[in-house]
Amino acid sequence: MESMAETEPIGVITSRTNGSRVFVLSAQAWSQIEKQLFNTFSTGASSFLVHLGEYYGRAIVREAKAGVQPPAFERVLQTLASASGWGEISVKGLTRGDTAFTVETRNCVFCSQASQLKSCYFLLGVVAGAAGETFGKQFEATEHQCGHSGSQVCRMTVEPAESRERTGLIPAVGRVLG
Ligand SMILES: [Zn+2]
Ligand SMILES: [Zn+2]
Repeated sequence: MESMAETEPIGVITSRTNGSRVFVLSAQAWSQIEKQLFNTFSTGASSFLVHLGEYYGRAIVREAKAGVQPPAFERVLQTLASASGWGEISVKGLTRGDTAFTVETRNCVFCSQASQLKSCYFLLGVVAGAAGETFGKQFEATEHQCGHSGSQVCRMTVEPAESRERTGLIPAVGRVLG
């Protein structure tokens, strides 16, 4: 974990990037949380996870922007994913955030456990929220390939909400269907 350091006092882990505290969750326990959410809220669980991710992604970008040298969108996502144990993220086809682009995650943790959920909803929300906060408008993310259905890579299309109707993709943020 290149951007995290365990320091004194005991039980405190801080980010090397900005010195703020971080904490770690077990992937297996997280998948149990998702399972319970699904049992309680059925398909509403996916929407809940997307929103949770969106708020987290927005907060992470705000934190990064507060630094002396704010990193670019791709760097923020890559650092977040690698330091958090989420996987290896790459961004393709991103220009100025006014058209659709692709986010790919290898070794994605969110589909590494068996789940009733069909997609990496939390990560979808993080990516859309981080894009929204970076470019100052609403983004929607849709996952086309996912480890939940056997893919080696989770591949998402991310696009400004206003351009969604042109491509006809099913939106992830705000209106998840299942
Ligand atoms: Zn995944
Ligand atoms: Zn996935």
